[in-house]
Amino acid sequence: MAQTKYIFVTGGVVSSLGKGIISASIGNLLQARGYSITIQKFDPYINIDPGTLNPYEHGECYVTVDGMETDLDLGHYERFTDIQTTRANSLTTGRIYQSVIEGERRGDYLGKTIQVVPHITDEIKRRMRFLGETHGYDFVITEIGGTIGDIESAPFLEAIRQMKWELGQNAVCIHLTYVPYLKAAGELKTKPTQHSVKELQRVGIQPDILILRTEHHLEQALLHKVAAFCNVDESCVVQSEDLPSIYEVPLNMLRQGLDVAILKKLNMSIGEVPALQPWRQFVERQRSATHEVHIGLIGKYDLQDAYKSIRESLHQAATYNDCKAKLVFVNTEQLTMHNVAEQLQGLQGLVICPGFGERGTEGKIQAIRYAREHDIPTLGICLGMQMMVVEFARDVLGLTNANSTELNPQTSHPVIDLMAEQKSFTAKGGTMRLGAYECELLEGSHVHAIYGQRVISERHRHRYEFNNSYREEFERHGMMCVGCNPAGQLVEIVEIPTLRWFIGTQFHPEYQSTVLHPHPLFLDFVKSLKC
Ligand code: GLN
Repeated sequence: MAQTKYIFVTGGVVSSLGKGIISASIGNLLQARGYSITIQKFDPYINIDPGTLNPYEHGECYVTVDGMETDLDLGHYERFTDIQTTRANSLTTGRIYQSVIEGERRGDYLGKTIQVVPHITDEIKRRMRFLGETHGYDFVITEIGGTIGDIESAPFLEAIRQMKWELGQNAVCIHLTYVPYLKAAGELKTKPTQHSVKELQRVGIQPDILILRTEHHLEQALLHKVAAFCNVDESCVVQSEDLPSIYEVPLNMLRQGLDVAILKKLNMSIGEVPALQPWRQFVERQRSATHEVHIGLIGKYDLQDAYKSIRESLHQAATYNDCKAKLVFVNTEQLTMHNVAEQLQGLQGLVICPGFGERGTEGKIQAIRYAREHDIPTLGICLGMQMMVVEFARDVLGLTNANSTELNPQTSHPVIDLMAEQKSFTAKGGTMRLGAYECELLEGSHVHAIYGQRVISERHRHRYEFNNSYREEFERHGMMCVGCNPAGQLVEIVEIPTLRWFIGTQFHPEYQSTVLHPHPLFLDFVKSLKC
């Protein structure tokens, strides 16, 4: 097996520069040159995973096929490269310490004082190497969360320093920084970048490649200056300007030879310039689309990142339908029966978003009722699907007090109830029904036509489920259970076939939609909005 090459991606100056998108773009370009890759994220916080974090703190929680709740950057990795990430692709300081401490209790370190260096750093290094050693990838790209200079990231940087030392020509460090434009001075400033590189050098890491995030085009002279001040080859300084779509980033990096710079540094063969079809076709189609569809995101988190994968799935689906998705966030906390018509005005379709807890759920019900009564195409995801069920129970079955027991434990009609297997759990972290499960579709249903196959596999993240004792009553009144888990008969999909497009899924289709393999449900949903 050839030696795996390791690429480390760090960030400096400020957060939110898009390290995840850069890491995903690097993966995409190396794949286009015929190499096998994986991408992993190491986050410096103490939580074991982001599953218990509020989306306001951390954005969306992404779920891998094997049921790990992870950082949303893993969603970018999958969307850009079509790889399937697993729990090995997502690490936090919390998990590193947990395994070291468990080892200490087992007696693995008998007689030793356990320290950050070498025990924590050794565990980080072991995890950094793990996927390369077990799967033999050509490249393992490791993105380090946070910003250089944070106290929390020090052990990760020390691990990178040691890995670079041990691996020599088989490791590179790519540092992403920011070049701000000072309007009053009319100048682009490189000083923050210089400081950030100094900070890295201070801990013993010389970055090999610099990527400068900027809102304005940078002239070659500026790149030259950065190269000279930071001990980096000029061919290894590239810029990442704001672009109309994140999916254009790989093409921009290719134009500037980022992949060639990486391959040269790692002594790998470069080969032909990749054509990157059909990626280019996708970007072209996205650019040229003019027809707009207006879609309401009905949820409670007014934050771009909170429903990241849903947004991206809709944008991808829109592109394949040659239109642009205009996503309008509708805050369910302010949605009432009196203002719902006005709030949803002009929206051609609704996505009822996932979520936890009671806040905003009555607003979701108002939106669902309006959509059902006015035949507006609607996709309910997870809590969104559950609220579709509650709304139908209240209004059509006449069970006015119906609810999910998550939201009202005293309800006399628990149409959504805690899953049997969940009843024994008291701990919150990592105990939900997580990851991919099979679902069998009902022949002749709308979803069956959409997927074009009988058995599908989708990712989950929930504790509550459709209460099967109400199933017959729902079906008699026109809400059909058209997808079930073959093992446990859990209802996975409901639809109202008499409406144009009204589907609720207990799973999260958004975790499986990628640029080159857009998800059939989103594709069909957007298609239904065009007519
Ligand atoms: N809160 C609901 C449950 O636990 C839905 C979860 C979700 O939307 N991801 O079942």
